[in-house]
Amino acid sequence: MMILILPGAVYYKIQLYKLTYLHTHFHMQDENYIKPNQKKIDIFKYNLSFDLYPEKKIFKANAVLTGQVLDQNIQSIDLNFYDNFNIEKVLLNGVSTEFENEGTTLSIPYDSLLGKEFIIEVVYEGTPKKAGLDGFVFGKRNGESLVYNLSEPTFSSTWFPCNDLPYDKSFLEMSITNDSDAVSVSNGILIDVKTNGDRRTYNWRTEYPIATYLIAIYSSKYISFNDKYISLDKKDTMDVDYFVLFDKLENAKVDFSGHVKMLEVLSKLFGEYPFIKEKYGVAEFLWFPGAMEHQTITGVSSNMISGKNFFEDTYVHELAHQWWGNAVSPKSWKDIWLNEGFATYSEALYYEALSGKKALQSTMISKYSSNFSGSLSEPGTYLFTRTMYDKGAWVLHMLRWEVGDSSFFNILKTYYETFKYSNASTTDFKNICEKVSEKNLDKFFEQWVYKEGQIEIQYKTEFINSSEGDLVKIQLEQIQEDYQVYQFPLEIKIINKDSTEQNFRYEITSRDTLIEISSISKPDTIELDPDRWLLAQIHMKDE
Ligand SMILES: [Zn+2]
Repeated sequence: MMILILPGAVYYKIQLYKLTYLHTHFHMQDENYIKPNQKKIDIFKYNLSFDLYPEKKIFKANAVLTGQVLDQNIQSIDLNFYDNFNIEKVLLNGVSTEFENEGTTLSIPYDSLLGKEFIIEVVYEGTPKKAGLDGFVFGKRNGESLVYNLSEPTFSSTWFPCNDLPYDKSFLEMSITNDSDAVSVSNGILIDVKTNGDRRTYNWRTEYPIATYLIAIYSSKYISFNDKYISLDKKDTMDVDYFVLFDKLENAKVDFSGHVKMLEVLSKLFGEYPFIKEKYGVAEFLWFPGAMEHQTITGVSSNMISGKNFFEDTYVHELAHQWWGNAVSPKSWKDIWLNEGFATYSEALYYEALSGKKALQSTMISKYSSNFSGSLSEPGTYLFTRTMYDKGAWVLHMLRWEVGDSSFFNILKTYYETFKYSNASTTDFKNICEKVSEKNLDKFFEQWVYKEGQIEIQYKTEFINSSEGDLVKIQLEQIQEDYQVYQFPLEIKIINKDSTEQNFRYEITSRDTLIEISSISKPDTIELDPDRWLLAQIHMKDE
């Protein structure tokens, strides 16, 4: 997900308002949201069908969940489902059953005599309750109806019954019916379109597993246009589909035109696009201020289809989530930095691939802050903070500096290959980093991921001209207020009077460090961390 944080002139005030609003009104579900029995079932497949009536803001729905019980001692199959719908019936293995629907849980009695595998069908209708960042929305723009959802992290249960744990991935068939002039879009591939009088049904299906929070619905009088992406091995040609309302068509043609290039660049960096047998798509939706990386079909706010490429970084970010978040999904919501930090660093990697090292550095500087609060491993109740996005990106940048480019890109590829279509935790990522780099990264992860804080350095330099040889002395002190002493490689660049340059790399391991470099003449300039690899404030000490 991308919540706008770039203070573009027009958007700045609205954005500040929205962010304040989000922070004060949005929290994760409470800790009782997931019932213990939910960890004892495994859903294989969701067959969902929605009959939309936007003018009345209601839908009629049918949800069929196929799964198995992992522990046959449980007395009930518990699912997440808001209790505000009119449930016509619930069937368990084809037989009408009792159920309890209270708060955010749907509970169905289970007996081991029924066997391990189950099929639950829920027939219901109503208006979804507003919850989370946006939930399920019957929206309108310029008088046109636009139906969409944004469920991340735990609000899919506002519109369908589900086992809302990010690691319980399933296959999906989605059927959406609306007025015959509406185009309805979801995850995966389009199987067929059927018209019945003034109603039209779009059937979609996934070939790859999906986490509940990435399941999407979009329905409006969309105009669509299309690009093709050819896989790196040239064996697959994949559709890249765009859906916007008519008045955004010209803008969208400009803004969306970079996607094929982005797909190529990111596939080369990380490994082939994960959903190559399906599609990648972008659909206009109304959640402002941002965009959401629903699997194979990103939602982008109307306000971010500018016709001037203003939001290209957001498009890269959402596409990168198809690897980081959608293919490799978080094991729990505590691992959100593995989504957001990775997608954010992918923006920098994309600009580096296009324009080189300076573009990498300037992108990272734009994401720099001298006071990220909180640790990456403890996101708290509001997941989408600058720390998870921008500090997350900085930590990957520093990891790259720590292990070197070749190991770093190997880590990304191995991590993706190992965990795609599945889930990973911070520990899983650390294990891959250590295995690939053959380095112990305990200290790195402790100081950057598990603890909060960042480096602050004060230094002074001295040139000593003596008979035994000339010396540059650099006295360096870590002055950050927190108690920890950081360990990191520091680059020092010396520029001599004749414009020649020398670069040195030092492992800093203590609070105070004295570095001595022999030199033939007094240097013109001494720069610490000249290429900006460190999340550090570096000041020259006043004499
Ligand atoms: Zn994101």
